[in-house]
Amino acid sequence: MAPTLKSMFEQTVSKYGDKEGLVDARLGTRWTYKEWDTEVNRVANALITAGVEKGDKVSTVLFNTAEFTTTLFACTKIGAVFNPINFRLTEKEIEFILADAEPKVVVFEKATAGAIEPVAKSMTGVQFWSIDDPSVQYASYFYDVVSKASDTSTAIMVGEDDPYAIMYTSGTTGLPKGVIHSHRDMMDQAMIMVACLRLTDQDRGLTIAPIFHCAELHCAFFPRVMIGASNVIMHHFDAKGLIETVKQERVTTMFAAPTMWNMVLQEEFTKEDFQTLRQALYGGAPMAPSLTTRLHSSIGVALIQAYGMTEMGPAITALTEEEQLTKAGSAGRAILNHEVRVVRTREDGPAEPEDICKPGELGEIIVRGPSTMQGYYKRPEATEEALYGGWYHSGDIGSFDEDGYLWVSDRVKDMIVSGGENIYSREVEDALFDHPDVLDAAVIGEPDEVWGERVVAFIVRKGDQITEQMLDEFCTSGNRLARYKRPRRYEFVEELPRNASGKLQKFKLRDKTGIATE
Ligand code: ATP
Repeated sequence: MAPTLKSMFEQTVSKYGDKEGLVDARLGTRWTYKEWDTEVNRVANALITAGVEKGDKVSTVLFNTAEFTTTLFACTKIGAVFNPINFRLTEKEIEFILADAEPKVVVFEKATAGAIEPVAKSMTGVQFWSIDDPSVQYASYFYDVVSKASDTSTAIMVGEDDPYAIMYTSGTTGLPKGVIHSHRDMMDQAMIMVACLRLTDQDRGLTIAPIFHCAELHCAFFPRVMIGASNVIMHHFDAKGLIETVKQERVTTMFAAPTMWNMVLQEEFTKEDFQTLRQALYGGAPMAPSLTTRLHSSIGVALIQAYGMTEMGPAITALTEEEQLTKAGSAGRAILNHEVRVVRTREDGPAEPEDICKPGELGEIIVRGPSTMQGYYKRPEATEEALYGGWYHSGDIGSFDEDGYLWVSDRVKDMIVSGGENIYSREVEDALFDHPDVLDAAVIGEPDEVWGERVVAFIVRKGDQITEQMLDEFCTSGNRLARYKRPRRYEFVEELPRNASGKLQKFKLRDKTGIATE
């Protein structure tokens, strides 16, 4: 029988049963793999008692919690489809996803109850379980339900082609779509990441990025469970807490989004604090080369970048530790068994996979590999368009250099056209990031009567010394940016709108300036 996430977890439990499997400071628990499995079995049986059958959906609106992991593996054991929802979404967004996914059970916590309550009260036929508040009227208390359930393993058969999850995309470029991944997609992705990160059962991983997002869950957490490493989870991101936990828990490997590493860099620490960490994985959003260099020199550990998207499992390319300094800013090369092309875009439909760009020529990044999604839930037309010609069309613009390294320039929808010239946000943002007083930067295009569009920059600055004029001089000095690419207007802000996984939400910047998003 081909491996599934169910058999993967069970094999690790049988091989590493007495080893520390999961550490969750919030609950004060340190479960061995065997103890973790017992909890998972209880949740699996509780879900069965609640009427969840193979193929039914179970949603979570949880931060990084032990209950997220037990619900997840319980679903894989009974063939239920796991639907992890972003804990930062608003009531309306959660309502949209729940109406689309149609789960039988929704597991949530106090920290997400504000958005859940109105939805729970208006939905019928869905059971809501709170993990940390027995007093909620509209929900059952998770531990009341789970403690009554048996801890024996269930005998439900799960196959590699069965759907394992429906994960909704970030919605940074439109309404979120439910991406269906099978068990096999995930086994492929996890195996490849074990090899890419050179993980072993001696590793101790930290989950600090949102576990609901595939970057953390599929590229870091599953590979660690697959190889029998130990896992420490922190409820939510906190830069000081990250530094403390790495030291206290002797963490050897972890993933964090670029914006999280940026926040770590603003804390006080020494290389000693990161002594046990042998690698730091980043990705999910662009990271300016100057930030990568600063991170590398201050924490002194090997950095690995991953580029990808929910639809692909997500990882597609990686920039390994050896390539960080020579190719800083590149997304690297395809990971095992994956293929990447840059192809010419078309006005009237998806790009043709055979219309391949030359090195240095910008085009749309298209990709294929064993962890490609099965499709978008309930959206056959969108699936067909996205997977046109057997390649996933990413909506990202990029190019290959002469050495075969991929460079991601922008999302197609974020590209700025000024005076007929294309301006890619990434290049302008990277240039701004070079300034030591720029803590965060984002650019968008705003309408301009003469040029069509012009660049506007939103800057989070250190102190208030730096001015618009100084930044303008900085951008144009030393050939940093061609004049037509430089921002024509600056707005200094306290923070930039980013989603839970660290992606810039440029539609919010456009809303702020009254620019319509198509
Ligand atoms: P939606 O499709 O709803 O807008 P989304 O595409 O933002 O959602 P994700 O799948 O989380 O949802 O994000 C994938 C995108 O994130 C990629 O297409 C790319 O633009 C960006 N990205 C991911 N990793 C990197 C990276 N290492 N460097 C640059 N950009 C990255």
